[in-house]
Amino acid sequence: MSNRTWVEVEIIVAEEAKDDIILMAGELGSSGVWETGNSLRCYFKKDEWQKEKGEIFLSFLRSLEKENKVEFVVKELQDKNWNEIWEKSIEPIEVGERFVIKPTWKSYNKSDRIVIQIDPKMSFGTGYHETTRLMLRAIEKYIKPGSKVLDVGTGTGILAIASIKLGAREAVGVDIDEWAYVNAIENAQLNDVKECFKIILGSIEDVVDRDFDFILANINKNAVVGMMSSFYDKLKDEGILITSGYLDFEQGDIEESLRTFEFEIIDVFKEGDWIAIVSKK
Ligand code: SAH
Repeated sequence: MSNRTWVEVEIIVAEEAKDDIILMAGELGSSGVWETGNSLRCYFKKDEWQKEKGEIFLSFLRSLEKENKVEFVVKELQDKNWNEIWEKSIEPIEVGERFVIKPTWKSYNKSDRIVIQIDPKMSFGTGYHETTRLMLRAIEKYIKPGSKVLDVGTGTGILAIASIKLGAREAVGVDIDEWAYVNAIENAQLNDVKECFKIILGSIEDVVDRDFDFILANINKNAVVGMMSSFYDKLKDEGILITSGYLDFEQGDIEESLRTFEFEIIDVFKEGDWIAIVSKK
């Protein structure tokens, strides 16, 4: 990593304001957000922070401060402290009944859980986001050994890797982001699934197969609704669609779109305000 300077904004926040801050930080291009208890730490590259993003974020926080919803401090960090922060703050995390997600530098040998190794590199999909955990819980409940899986918006590749670890015979991951594409390839290797995990840089239209038993998509409401006809087209009859990336107030819009394509909703998973919906073609 080059010698970059980062800005860390540490925010002590009331539960109800958390999601708004995470969304705002994401929209402003934050490189990562760490949540621990009632604190959020948002990281920005200093050069980007200085190009007005910092001002926007701070005025947003000041307005919340007036409503007594947050307290915050802004700090500058050099790369050195930055790496220390990662190493200290990232613990193996148990998800659902079957999985544990850990960085390569931590060990985990407590139980018979399936270990997924993901080194967080400022990407979504480290297992710390609610929607990733919701997807993993749905996957462990529904994926059947021998299935063929499409993971749209694969990110770190975590969902495809988890599916293969549960016995899927083949997974295709697709992502429009080049960085995610490279990271998914690295993680396929790291988790020893690269023989069964094919990764495509592009969108769902770039996937030619139409015989998937499962489609996974953890992106956001508009992306999920926009891809509904492609999901339908690429799933086998009675195939299962698992989607997330949206909040519970958006459930109605997702369900309406699912009904248009005659998907049958079979399960809904919730964590905080986030949900995942499982449906059948
Ligand atoms: N599947 C991972 C990552 C989800 S983040 C997990 O569950 O944790 C969402 C990912 O979707 C990002 O990597 C983003 O680059 C990708 N993405 C966003 N829009 C997309 C689109 N239209 N087609 C494919 N990928 C998309």
